[in-house]
Amino acid sequence: MENKFIEEPARRIPVRDEVDVLVVGGGPAGLMAAQSAALVEGTKVMLIENRGSLGGNMTQGLPLLGFLGRKGNEVIKGLPLRFVERLRERGQATHHRACPLHVSLTMIDPEGTKRLAWEIMEECGVKVLMYVMCVDVIMNGSRVAGVIIESKKGREAILAKTVVDCTGDGDVAFRAGAEMKYGNDDGIAQPPTLMFSMRGVDSRKLRDAVADHPDIYDIDFIPGEFFRSDDNCTMVGFRNQIKQARAAGYKLPVERTIFMTGMAGDEWWVNMSRVNGIDATDPEQYTRGEEICIRQNAEIVRYLKAYIPGFENAWLDRVAPFMGIRETRRIVGEYVLTEQDIFDCARFDDAIGVAAYPVDLHHPVGGDCTLMWCPDCYDIPYRSLVPLKIDGLLCAGRNISATHLALASVRVMAPAMCLGEAAGKAAALSAKQGCEPRKLDIKLLQQALKDEGVYFRP
Ligand SMILES: Cc1cc2nc3c(=O)[nH]c(=O)nc-3n(C[C@H](O)[C@H](O)[C@H](O)COP(=O)(O)OP(=O)(O)OC[C@H]3O[C@@H](n4cnc5c(N)ncnc54)[C@H](O)[C@@H]3O)c2cc1C
Repeated sequence: MENKFIEEPARRIPVRDEVDVLVVGGGPAGLMAAQSAALVEGTKVMLIENRGSLGGNMTQGLPLLGFLGRKGNEVIKGLPLRFVERLRERGQATHHRACPLHVSLTMIDPEGTKRLAWEIMEECGVKVLMYVMCVDVIMNGSRVAGVIIESKKGREAILAKTVVDCTGDGDVAFRAGAEMKYGNDDGIAQPPTLMFSMRGVDSRKLRDAVADHPDIYDIDFIPGEFFRSDDNCTMVGFRNQIKQARAAGYKLPVERTIFMTGMAGDEWWVNMSRVNGIDATDPEQYTRGEEICIRQNAEIVRYLKAYIPGFENAWLDRVAPFMGIRETRRIVGEYVLTEQDIFDCARFDDAIGVAAYPVDLHHPVGGDCTLMWCPDCYDIPYRSLVPLKIDGLLCAGRNISATHLALASVRVMAPAMCLGEAAGKAAALSAKQGCEPRKLDIKLLQQALKDEGVYFRP
């Protein structure tokens, strides 16, 4: 139906709420944004989320990447660290394990994460509304004055002094007409993956096999001995096994095997399905991707049981609640963070935090990955959260202003949380002061973030 259209008549819709700060999207960035904004005294904050749980990609069984820098120090502190510490107190998060490949890994329990997210929202007085999709914006000239939501109840409006777009896809910015980029120079994004876990894995057998037989079980970059101890890890490699399985007729979408520890001793989460060329902002493509991933995962389970030691008697346990999206749209902001900034450990006067995770590119075409490390850590400038020309709006998480390659670093969850904390604070301070986010006194913002424990380089 490409060229067929209908006219939608204008209609009066009810205003459901009016707040100081509206956060759209309850993933790692959105949760921190809402909490951070609510901690500014007297700020009325609302968080809206289209799914039935909070946490976004934190509920997919993935480790939080990016808490440590390459020198082993914590570069993400403030509210994100407090979140992890609270999970840890309940036995629902691990320590940050330094890792030669991914710099650090912090495992979290998806269900514990959802519960803690609720508790925090309640503690700090954030009004949460779930099962609502932000479908449009209310503009006052070039200023976002609120959003339109859709739910079973129909269309409603929420008015806000400042909106924070934490949708991952930049839905609010896009509707507001902000300049956006999509994927790489050819307009192709990193591929999505549907995560799943396996239980009943003989982890001792797996670890010993990898440590004792690097000639058979080839692991990328890290010596096999690293995996011997019963500690957090992500195994990336077994390229030999993939080759053998392919030769035997297995249809595998990736060049290497990748799985990581879960919270239970016999639990491993598998990150191997891959659908290149999917635009996850198109429901038909998203649907097709999900279906392809389900089929790929069935073959991957068969492969793991046949080729990876310790998986022989394992079973598929949980499947992530949705296919995870690595990349779609991102804003063009007052500053575009580049990969060169990352490799140069760039410093910015308007830093709102620091990140250190490498450029971790799952190739938009083909089934391989490339990692390019930052020598230490880099500042994230406030300007990369502020869209060009559109007022009343800040963006955080994986839709910030960055190049395709820089996004492949800053998008992981610890920096995404750090960006959320900064955006939420800036939104609340802007609302309080009655100024545009782009005009906010950066020193005031930086001081507020320092007071909350955010790490800045000396
Ligand atoms: C397969 C995969 C593996 C990854 N591996 C890792 C890893 O190991 N470690 C790591 O740290 N990072 C990893 N990442 C990256 C990381 O998970 C994301 O980049 C990060 O979660 C981005 O955070 P976010 O808050 O911006 O977005 P999200 O986590 O996507 O959260 C966005 C939230 O907004 C909601 N939302 C979206 N649109 C709307 C709307 N219009 N209205 C209302 N709500 C909306 C969504 O439902 C969601 O809850 C991975 C990503 C994928 C996809």
